[in-house]
Amino acid sequence: MGLPRLILLGIMIGLGMWLWRRFNSRSAPPAKPAVSQSMVRCAHCHLHLPEDRAIQKNQQWYCSAEHLEHGPKARD
Ligand SMILES: [Zn+2]
Repeated sequence: MGLPRLILLGIMIGLGMWLWRRFNSRSAPPAKPAVSQSMVRCAHCHLHLPEDRAIQKNQQWYCSAEHLEHGPKARD
C-alpha cells in the first residue's frame, strides 16, 4: 500500500522544510531596518530633504545655496 509511505513522505518533507527554514533563519542575518536618514526642512521653501543633501547655516537648513542666500522665510 502506498498511503503510509505517502504520509511518511509528507512528514519528511514537512520536517525537511521546517529544518531548512530554521537553518536559514539562523544563518541569515536579521533583517536590519534601513537607517532612517534624518530629514531636515529648508528654512526658505520648507522643503523636506535628507540632512546630507541640505546646507546648514546658523542652525537653519536650506535645500540649495540659492535659498541659503535668501535666508529663512516665515510660512504665511
Ligand atoms: Zn529651499
